[in-house]
Amino acid sequence: MKINVKGKKALIRVDFNVPLDKQYNITDDTRIREALPTIQHILQAGGAVILMSHLGRPLEKRNADGTINREKFTLQHLVKHLRKKLKTKVHFADDCVGKSAVKKAAALKAGEVLLLENTRFYEEEEKGDAEFAKKLAALADVYVNDAFGTAHRAHASTTIVAHYFDKNHKCFGFLMEREIENANRVMRNPEHPVTCVVGGAKVSDKIVLLERFLDFANNIIVGGAMAYTFMLAKKGAVGNSLIEPDRVKAAKEFLKKAKAAGVKVLLPKDSVCGDKFAADAAVQVHPSHQIPDGWMGLDIGPSAVKTYARTIRQSKTIIWNGPMGVFEMPAFAEGTKAIAKAVARATKNGAFSMVGGGDSVAAVNQMKLAKKVSFVSTGGGAMLEYLEGKELPGIKAINA
Ligand code: AMP
Repeated sequence: MKINVKGKKALIRVDFNVPLDKQYNITDDTRIREALPTIQHILQAGGAVILMSHLGRPLEKRNADGTINREKFTLQHLVKHLRKKLKTKVHFADDCVGKSAVKKAAALKAGEVLLLENTRFYEEEEKGDAEFAKKLAALADVYVNDAFGTAHRAHASTTIVAHYFDKNHKCFGFLMEREIENANRVMRNPEHPVTCVVGGAKVSDKIVLLERFLDFANNIIVGGAMAYTFMLAKKGAVGNSLIEPDRVKAAKEFLKKAKAAGVKVLLPKDSVCGDKFAADAAVQVHPSHQIPDGWMGLDIGPSAVKTYARTIRQSKTIIWNGPMGVFEMPAFAEGTKAIAKAVARATKNGAFSMVGGGDSVAAVNQMKLAKKVSFVSTGGGAMLEYLEGKELPGIKAINA
């Protein structure tokens, strides 16, 4: 972190959008734990920390009478846990702007933490309202953005607030720095061969990503339901598999572009098919371009697994986004599992691997392989957009 925080108040945008149970206990504190290094660094350097975050979607999930469900969406639920983790005074302001926030921020001492109330209690937050952002900015001397997962949104607390600090008074936190560094490493300076593994449900969600990968990949591996739209593009029969008929043309064009760019696109030779979309479906393996009617491709087949795993093992850089099949159902999880293992093995042999985007992260966690890949991005949609080559407003606002 480049800025001096000694004796200063640092306003940190964190992502504390943690899952809570019915009694408002935190069921997974990953997001809090990941923000701790930045918070602790500032406290140890003699600064005071003001934390702001959203929690859930309070404006959309209102009480029956239209009021905000403060009881459910208050960040107060996190205070006890934060005190335990940080072992310092953690104050709470029941508003993120206004009198109580101003008063508590002013009284905050070095080494102490103030948690502000949910920024999404205000519609100004998601609208990126300048006046609201200015009020947030007025609470502190410096601004630190450590919420990569919301960096693709031009919200008041993630982007607009940064406009009220000059270059020497704003920076990224460690978590965000790491996300940017790793994404840049795979995109700008990758060691070859580079293999991009793309899966998931829809071509439409991933086509921009696929085209972007043509810029630097040697191999692009396609899995998930997406593969069947590609099969259609190659005039295959895909039975009842999930497809996007309006994307067949895009898939065809992509294959053409890949050929022209000299990038190898691997489609699954075979598929594990079910007779229905259900965990207890009857299962058969069919060539992916000859799936009979009444059957749907729900995972890559054993022959595809072999080819994909071999390509991955021979790679020096691997980017993986999206599962190979319906990994939530054990009968259709083997393909995703095998790919996760191949990525872990390549990593052990010296490759750099990055897993990003919600569902493949869930798959890697489910298989307890998160520590065996080089980097697991927590960014979800933000990482997808960053890899697609978009300039994220939250990043631009810090660099401006
Ligand atoms: P995405 O969010 O686009 O990465 O898609 C992930 C979802 O795609 C997961 O919930 C998977 O169950 C689903 N999925 C993957 N492969 C298939 C398939 N062959 N048919 C239907 N759904 C699939």
